Amino acid sequence: MYLPQEIIRKKRDGEVLTAEEINFFIQGVANNSVSEGQIAAFAMAIFFNEMTMPERIALTCAMRDSGMVIDWSHMNFSGPIVDKHSTGGVGHVTSLMLGPMVAACGGFVPMISGRGLGHTGGTLDKLESIPGYNITPTNEVFGDVTKDAGVAIIGQTGDLAPADKRVYATRDITATVDNISLITASILSKKLAAGLESLVMDVKVGSGAFMPTYEASEELAKSIVAVANGAGTKTTAILTDMNQVLASSAGNAVEVREAVRFLTGEYRNPRLLEVTIASCAEMLVLGKLADNTEQARSKLMEVLDNGKAAECFGKMVAGLGGPADFVENYDNYLDKAEIIKPVYALENGVVSAMDTRAIGMAVVGMGGGRRVATDKIDYAVGFDNFIRLGEVASQDKPLAMIHARSEEQWNEAAQALQSAITVGGEYTPTPEVYRQIRAEDI
Ligand code: URA
Repeated sequence: MYLPQEIIRKKRDGEVLTAEEINFFIQGVANNSVSEGQIAAFAMAIFFNEMTMPERIALTCAMRDSGMVIDWSHMNFSGPIVDKHSTGGVGHVTSLMLGPMVAACGGFVPMISGRGLGHTGGTLDKLESIPGYNITPTNEVFGDVTKDAGVAIIGQTGDLAPADKRVYATRDITATVDNISLITASILSKKLAAGLESLVMDVKVGSGAFMPTYEASEELAKSIVAVANGAGTKTTAILTDMNQVLASSAGNAVEVREAVRFLTGEYRNPRLLEVTIASCAEMLVLGKLADNTEQARSKLMEVLDNGKAAECFGKMVAGLGGPADFVENYDNYLDKAEIIKPVYALENGVVSAMDTRAIGMAVVGMGGGRRVATDKIDYAVGFDNFIRLGEVASQDKPLAMIHARSEEQWNEAAQALQSAITVGGEYTPTPEVYRQIRAEDI
């Protein structure tokens, strides 16, 4: 017999909790016998004393098992069940291409995604700019679309990891979000409840990243790899750059437009291509769909170039209620802002830095993200044709095209971009992918 307050005391005093104690506490979170105050104290004790890897594994498994854990065995998928998660960013539209690309190579990607958080865009918000697309299908439809298209991207259902929902809500109001043990268990409990065989974790580094430094991003990546593998899901992490907007666009409908053009080969931003391929290649290797990264990369380029990945995307959209001809006629369906015009730098010169977080907040400021959970999103607003670091801003090369609803909104967004993008000064190139962290590297 355990007492929540004794478990809290033990962690407060820097002791190591047993899996049984952690299970007891999390079961109490799920059945409401543990109070919000106790969750807050528990989270703060972990914040100051961290958790060992075995404790993190126990916390992840307890939160994963607090609700439904999807079992796909009855679906008889003909390939591995693989997924990716990212710590989020700006212009980070990779999921929309990655899922179909891996599906076209024989994987099955039942992806449970999130909404925008702070300055970062959300895959679900982007997908909801497609008329009819249903992010909350029944479990049966989720399974059927995953089987038929190889990929289905939907929202979190209430019955997946409900303990995390309570713990996260309490962390959010008690200054205990930014802790690696808690972040690891929170992210993984939800992902692992989706019944995956393997997972690739894309941890961002840079001015638009969730973690404040390279070292912190690397520590989170290592924690996730150790804990996920310890919990029985083969997992690799990659550290990728978020010192600039990843795609050429940032917003919702503008990013969906870019995703379709990427899949059909109309235009592929090279940095976006590199990060997407890097994640996909790890997925293929983990899922044994390729023997090594080089083979994975060539398979992925093949399904991009022969249209198979675009076909999987189209099937997913139609299967989840969107238009059957979306890939062919996306421009007829996506909302467009009234004013679409370029913004120029105040002086010409090389773009040497971007405050990517501020650019994300500029999208939120235009209504492309939420300030409070109940805000409605304006799917049409945002930026495209974004300049990249190292390019020369001039009267021929604007910083971006702004998609705005009014002149006033355009002016505000233009000022935000002009101050978020540094022109002149020293430019040091950053790689798209810093490193991989595999189980054997820990
Ligand atoms: N995202 C999550 O799901 N959980 C965290 O703790 C942080 C980011």
